[in-house]
Amino acid sequence: MSIIEVKRLNKIYKNNKGKETHALSNINISIKPSEFISIIGPSGCGKSTLLQIVAGLEEKTSGELNWNSEEGEIGYVFQDATLLPWKNVWDNAKFPLEMRKKDTIENLEKLERLLDFSGLADFKHAFPKELSGGMKQRVSIVRALSYDPDILLMDEPFGALDAMTRDKMNLELLRVWQETNKTVLFITHSISEAVFLSDRVIIMSPRPGRIQKVLDINLPRP
Ligand code: ADP
Ligand code: ADP
Repeated sequence: MSIIEVKRLNKIYKNNKGKETHALSNINISIKPSEFISIIGPSGCGKSTLLQIVAGLEEKTSGELNWNSEEGEIGYVFQDATLLPWKNVWDNAKFPLEMRKKDTIENLEKLERLLDFSGLADFKHAFPKELSGGMKQRVSIVRALSYDPDILLMDEPFGALDAMTRDKMNLELLRVWQETNKTVLFITHSISEAVFLSDRVIIMSPRPGRIQKVLDINLPRP
């Protein structure tokens, strides 16, 4: 049973002069619970557009997007940590729980454990500007997981980090994934990153609008 079913998905952007850009052509993907799926492909093949449509941040032109879960709640991690600079780590991390009025003692305790698990125990009172890039991304991931979303969507979350920090973050993300058993859709430009992290890799071909090929590969679970 899949939690998200994408069928014959098409996206055409139109600018105000009527110029059309095909961003996705006839994409089919079925996402099962607890899968870690990496999406890889050249710039412009529609990876971000796909993630944004799944997240409801962008409208599809045609096709289907079906959720087999009641809330259809998503967690989103962008390339640049989008932390609120005037809030410390703890206040940033619990912000989505507060917005949803789900900041119960139980949920806040879970959140605190997740922060500790992610190596942020000593940084709860630190402000974003006091943190390294890797630490800021860790806070973003914890924040996106705080309200227990059905799926974690990540758009090149480590793309702006140096190679060593990136390797470290990949290890940590894998630990967090094994701990939380979350369904993850992860965009990357790096084949090695995709293979290291995922149990499934989806390769999208360039030039959507013609025939967009999608290669769907299952890997042994890391
Ligand atoms: P990727 O993430 O694989 O680099 P994108 O989904 O960002 O690909 O972009 C797919 C295509 O859609 C590209 O040609 C891009 O220029 C175009 N595109 C993306 N966002 C917009 C937008 N908001 N308006 C118009 N065209 C867009
Ligand atoms: P990351 O790999 O998460 O980017 P770094 O390699 O930059 O982290 O930092 C390694 C360790 O150094 C961190 O786990 C943290 O304990 C400490 N550290 C990093 N930045 C700061 C800072 N601004 N203030 C205090 N300690 C820091």
